[in-house]
Formats: sequence, C-alpha cells, structure tokens
Amino acid sequence: MKFETRLLNFDPAPGDKARPVATPIYQTATFRQTSATEFGEYDYSRSGNPTRSVLEEQLALLEGAERAFCFSSGLAAITAVTRLLHPGEEIVACNDLYGGTFRLFSRILKGRGIDVRYVDFEDVDELESAISPRTRLLYLETPTNPLLKIVDVKRAAEIAHNAGALLCVDNSTMSPYLQRPLESGADVVVHSATKFLCGHSDVTGGVLAVNGAALAEEIYLIQNGEGAVLGPMDSFLLLRGLKTLAVRVDRQQQNAIEIANFLNRHPVVTRVHFPGLDSHPARELHFSQAKGPGSVLSFETGNFELSRRVAEATRVFAITVSFGSVNSSVSLPVYMSHASIPAEIRAEKILPQDLVRLSVGIENVSDLVADLEQALTVGTSVGETADTLQEIS
Ligand SMILES: *Cc1c(COP(=O)(O)O)cnc(C)c1O
Repeated sequence: MKFETRLLNFDPAPGDKARPVATPIYQTATFRQTSATEFGEYDYSRSGNPTRSVLEEQLALLEGAERAFCFSSGLAAITAVTRLLHPGEEIVACNDLYGGTFRLFSRILKGRGIDVRYVDFEDVDELESAISPRTRLLYLETPTNPLLKIVDVKRAAEIAHNAGALLCVDNSTMSPYLQRPLESGADVVVHSATKFLCGHSDVTGGVLAVNGAALAEEIYLIQNGEGAVLGPMDSFLLLRGLKTLAVRVDRQQQNAIEIANFLNRHPVVTRVHFPGLDSHPARELHFSQAKGPGSVLSFETGNFELSRRVAEATRVFAITVSFGSVNSSVSLPVYMSHASIPAEIRAEKILPQDLVRLSVGIENVSDLVADLEQALTVGTSVGETADTLQEIS
C-alpha cells in the first residue's frame, strides 16, 4: 500500500469487539488483571496504553522503524535519546539545531558528564575529523531550521557507524511523508510531533522511531523508566491529525513553493532560503533523500527593523513560534524560537538578525501572497508604520 493509504488503513482498535472506526481514548491509568501473579497485555498507562500503542505502531510503520515511542514533547523524546549516553561519552551535533535542543545539550547535559561538540555537518571532512573514541551519538536535523541547510544523511550514518556511534536525525521539518531517515541509515528518528504530525497546533508531543531490537528495548526502558509518556487524549488527537498528513503537507508545500517564488522576485527581499528553489545550493542532495521541499522557509531583507515591521504587519500569517500547522505563521527566529541558543553558539551560527521564518499553511495561496505583499509594502513605507515605529521607541 502507498503511504497515503497507510495513513488511513490500519486497525484503529485491536481486539475491540465494538469495532470502532476511530481509536477509543483509553482514559485509564491502570488495568484490571485476571491473575495476581502475571500481568496481561496492559497493566499501567505509563508502561503501555492501548490508544498510545495504536499511535506508536502506526508511527513505526510510517517511518519504516522497528518500533516507535511517544513522549510528552519533542524535547522529552530528545532527552530520552541522550539517556543512551554515559558520563565521559560525547555527542557530535550539527551546529544548526532547534533552539530548545541547543539549550538541552549545552545547559543541561554539559556539566552532567556528557560533552557535546558542534560541527558544520555540511562539511563532511570537518565532521569526520570531529569524531573521537568517546563519540557515542551523531545528532542532526535536515533541512535545518531556520536556514534550511541540507545534511547528507547517508554519509553521516556511514561516519557514525564507522566510529561505532549511533546516528539520530530530527525529522520534524519533513515528516515521514517527505523523508524517512531510517531508510538512509539513521538509527533513531526524532519528531516534535507538535509540528507536522499533529498539524493543528493543539498537541505537544514527541516521537522516537528506532531500528534494532536491542536499541528499541533500551529506549522502551527509558520511556517507561523515566515516564515522560504521551497521554491517551493527546495520542488520540495525534492519531486524528496523522490521517490528513499527506493532504496537509501536499497543500502546504504547494503554497510554500508559490510563496518562495514570490519572495524570490520581490525587490525588498535580499535572500530566500528554501530547498524548493533552483537556486538552493544543496537542492540536489535534498531531493536525493526527501520527496519534497516542505513548507518551512525563511528570507532576509538586509535590515532588522524592516523585517520586524514586515512580520508585525502580516494579518493572515500569525506571529507564533512553531511550524507545520494548517495555519500559516511568521516568526523572527533570532528573537523567538532560537533565543534559547547560548550566545557563543548563536554568534558561531551566524543566524541573520533580519531572518524571517514562515511556516506555510493550507489557506488559499492568493490570500497568503497578498498578505506578504501588503506587509512588505507597509514595512518599507515610513508613513504607514508611524504607529509601529512609536511602539519600538
Ligand atoms: C519544536 C521542535 C523540537 C522540540 O519539540 P517540542 O515538542 O516543542 O518539545 C525539536 N526539534 C525541532 C526541529 C523542533 O522544531
């Protein structure tokens, strides 16, 4: 069966005699046992819950994983991956990561005996020479957010495996519909399910999809042993959101391509970052490991105040962090999602101050283009921005 069909064609309630079409919300913390000495399939919802199980099996199938595990947030899932490391071991991480991941790595892990080194993963030689005998995990995102840089997953997997390390790929910006890193050799895929998997900005959740029975057992021990699991109601909402993943992503992506082309032609915009543009330096690499460009893009105007006025002048695009929702959103990464990056890394990353990130939704694209058009006009015309300028001062 094709991916779009598999999104809908699964057993929503294994063993349920009522044969519901939607997965029931098993809002129960514990399960009655018939034996006092042996547990049945379910005993306690931290260890396993039928609603979460259906979701986890569905996600494993979609990512091509042996097993998948759902957590209370993307960061809880990433934290679980870091538990695979012991003091004295290190993570070699891509230097273009989600702000919260930087904060976890740099402010929480460091100082607890686990070292993290940041490397430009686009430069394979630099990556290779950064590996040490203590390296246990390589960690990357592709495309990166918000600069949409592309990392070669196959090469990174080879480098990791040659060093006896694992490769973990954060697939939040793509979803398994567009990219399945396990097929390129990654050992663990991470998702902030809050983004595309949910798609409606109404659930915070995280996923780990893993290959290898031993690794899966280890992750299960961490999930159950630490307990940051996804609740039944949130599991239900994610299952519901997942059914429309392909149609949402198709529409969002189609809108994003039009918007990227519009911005690329606009005289006020100095640069557009989007792997769907012919001008993207790693377009070919991206399309060798992903089916489409996605719907997250960013652009520069050359002037921070201008970017700020443009972001604040949008009406259809809402100023929000996060991405992947059916609603379009706009943000200034340096001040919003990436403000949690430690200053020294932020300086190294050279995230442009004037960078505007868009997450494109499923609205009618002509409304989205018109909104950006008027925002760019307002942003550049002093008269109309008198109010905004006063607020700034
Ligand atoms: C949002 C995000 C996370 C963190 O996920 P939460 O669900 O917010 O905890 C991790 N990685 C990426 C790429 C993200 O965009």
